[in-house]
Amino acid sequence: MMRSLFITLSRAAWAQRAITRWGFAQKMAARFVAGETTGQAIQSIRTLNAQGIQATLDHLGENTSSLEAAHLAVEEVLEMLAEIDRSGVSANVSIKLSQMGLTIDPQVCRENLRQLLERARSLGNFIRIDMEDTSLTDATLAAYFWARQQGFDNVGVVIQSYLYRSSADVRQILEIQGKVRLCKGAYKEAPQVAYPQKADVDSQYDQLTAQLLAGAVAAGLPRRSSDGRIPPIPALATHDEKRIRAAQAAAQDLKLPKDALEFQMLYGIRRDLQAGLVAAGYPVRVYVPYGTHWYPYFMRRLAERPANVWFIASNFFRK
Ligand SMILES: Cc1cc2nc3c(=O)[nH]c(=O)nc-3n(C[C@H](O)[C@H](O)[C@H](O)COP(=O)(O)OP(=O)(O)OC[C@H]3O[C@@H](n4cnc5c(N)ncnc54)[C@H](O)[C@@H]3O)c2cc1C
Repeated sequence: MMRSLFITLSRAAWAQRAITRWGFAQKMAARFVAGETTGQAIQSIRTLNAQGIQATLDHLGENTSSLEAAHLAVEEVLEMLAEIDRSGVSANVSIKLSQMGLTIDPQVCRENLRQLLERARSLGNFIRIDMEDTSLTDATLAAYFWARQQGFDNVGVVIQSYLYRSSADVRQILEIQGKVRLCKGAYKEAPQVAYPQKADVDSQYDQLTAQLLAGAVAAGLPRRSSDGRIPPIPALATHDEKRIRAAQAAAQDLKLPKDALEFQMLYGIRRDLQAGLVAAGYPVRVYVPYGTHWYPYFMRRLAERPANVWFIASNFFRK
């Protein structure tokens, strides 16, 4: 119930106004967000790189309401790609298509995506398209397949294990040897489209992991690029130790080298687990969000963990 409430609040303008002005929330959000500027984010990535961890950089923003705003978001990502190149950090980029105009004009959004992929390709970099709520799943996957048909192979997409449809989507993506970030899913979805029970989401996560590992074998085990920017086919994004152990066991059964897959986690969450995986020889990538539009991202992080919610709620009533 708390999860639902916080996800609903993540879309409420009045809650955004109240919470973003609140100093305690700003401080707590800083745990999950690597600053407001590209420079601060790059600095955080340098720290991660020094620990043997790659990054994927995200300029926070979603559900853009005008094509002008979408254009500005494109400019920001172009600048980010240039800054990654100039600074030499090991990072690729994550974007949300609703930030690039998907809900306003899908055709303009595709042209925006083309511009980003062209620039990324010229700099030897890779763009991951995040997955948003189910009102955008079809349009997001259609844009991904369109980009692949246009000849871009420096693009990957995200699949959510809470959706019933995901196994079929993974099968289709693997047919073109696509790169998939697998996560559980962070939005509030109806039982008509998503498993309501955590046990089912977890179980489908393990099944999809196995599907992705088999897909990687079938594709000849493409590895991560030596600069760490281009990921392998399976990118397993979770902080759930059981899911991680299941993935390691499945990879060992298939006798896969450790760098045939990568684990991904969010900035500021389970740093101990990140370090443990690096020490065990697995590639790890951390999703590094930055910028001023931290509110919906922050609320989804709160929703994921009851302890976060109680911590912030008790402080709200004390303020
Ligand atoms: C790199 C990355 C990219 C992602 N991209 C997307 C995306 O494109 N679309 C999408 O819908 N979702 C995305 N997500 C979010 C994802 O769907 C989950 O909501 C989130 O990862 C929590 O699920 P979990 O797999 O960690 O498992 P859970 O079962 O939720 O958590 C397992 C354990 O992880 C720790 N943990 C998890 N979340 C938190 C938190 N917020 N604060 C503190 N501890 C926590 C706790 O110890 C918890 O017990 C992404 C996640 C990652 C790691």
